[in-house]
Amino acid sequence: MAQSDWKTAIQSIHPSERLFFDEPMAKHTTFRIGGPAECYAVTDDGNEVRALVSFCKEQGVPYHIIGNGSNLLVSDDGIEGLVIRMEGSRISEEPGADGKVHFRVSAGTLLSGFAKGVCKDGYTGLEFATGIPGSVGGAVVMNAGAYGGEIKDRLVSADVLTKDGGVLTLTGPELELSYRHSNVTEREYIVLSAEFALEKGDPEAIKETVDELSGKRKDKQPLEYPSAGSTFKRPEGYFAGKLIDDCGLRGFTVGGAQVSEKHCGFVINRGGATAEDVLGLIGAVQKTVLDRFGILLEPEVRFLGF
Ligand SMILES: Cc1cc2nc3c(=O)[nH]c(=O)nc-3n(C[C@H](O)[C@H](O)[C@H](O)COP(=O)(O)OP(=O)(O)OC[C@H]3O[C@@H](n4cnc5c(N)ncnc54)[C@H](O)[C@@H]3O)c2cc1C
Repeated sequence: MAQSDWKTAIQSIHPSERLFFDEPMAKHTTFRIGGPAECYAVTDDGNEVRALVSFCKEQGVPYHIIGNGSNLLVSDDGIEGLVIRMEGSRISEEPGADGKVHFRVSAGTLLSGFAKGVCKDGYTGLEFATGIPGSVGGAVVMNAGAYGGEIKDRLVSADVLTKDGGVLTLTGPELELSYRHSNVTEREYIVLSAEFALEKGDPEAIKETVDELSGKRKDKQPLEYPSAGSTFKRPEGYFAGKLIDDCGLRGFTVGGAQVSEKHCGFVINRGGATAEDVLGLIGAVQKTVLDRFGILLEPEVRFLGF
């Protein structure tokens, strides 16, 4: 099918108010960087996702799944094909056989909003997640974590759409959740929803923890600038930010991209940064740290459209 034809045909399978063409990805990434997605569809519905994916397979159109874009660096040239953005929130709860309350949460739900809500209702276990700015789907993919907590600690299972259009319910071990890793991307799964098990705790202690962690983030992280959080994974036995600082790279700048002066583990967009700037900065940081300490920093940030 010719290029323009698939863009016409896709309009008959997805609601027009949630379908966009040449959509600037800078609007949809916390880095505020990224050229246009050729086509951008918003959904949080498994059947719609399945229809979009099978359309793309039939038409030979590349497709990419994103959540809240809080761990993404998108190319300045944009993204070919379709970006499927998981957005929207559906949450239900029921008592589990384990005596805990089980929450089923759609992939497009913001993790921080869900976590803050359950903490407010007196459930303990997701205090660590109240400041993580991704979607629930993205949090499962990344096994997001902070301050000693990780998604895998509270995840009962996730429903994923498989490559051949089936739906599987997989546990944390089946998703191979480990430090900032799952098998979702390599197996080409799409997370549709996740189930968490939480128990009631002491409301005052929960609030205290949430406030304390929020204070720590504000003190330590450059939240006043666009970023994608920690740029690099933590190398075993080290802290990426400390290694970068020890190399004298605090404040090191390429174009509009900078190693945050407040937290060397964050690359920030000081204004007008391009993806090329960020890539250049990441490459220079990696080389300097490797030359000095013999440690290769692995990006935690995912790259799209390169
Ligand atoms: C200020 C700031 C602070 C942060 N702090 C933390 C922190 O403390 N801890 C932490 O772990 N992270 C942190 N992050 C990073 C980020 O919030 C997490 O990695 C988050 O889990 C990413 O979720 P997302 O929905 O934004 O995913 P995206 O960035 O949209 O996507 C990330 C990856 O997941 C894939 N993906 C997303 N949704 C789905 C889905 N439904 N199905 C299949 N694949 C999917 C994408 O293809 C991509 O490969 C921070 C980021 C910022 C900007």
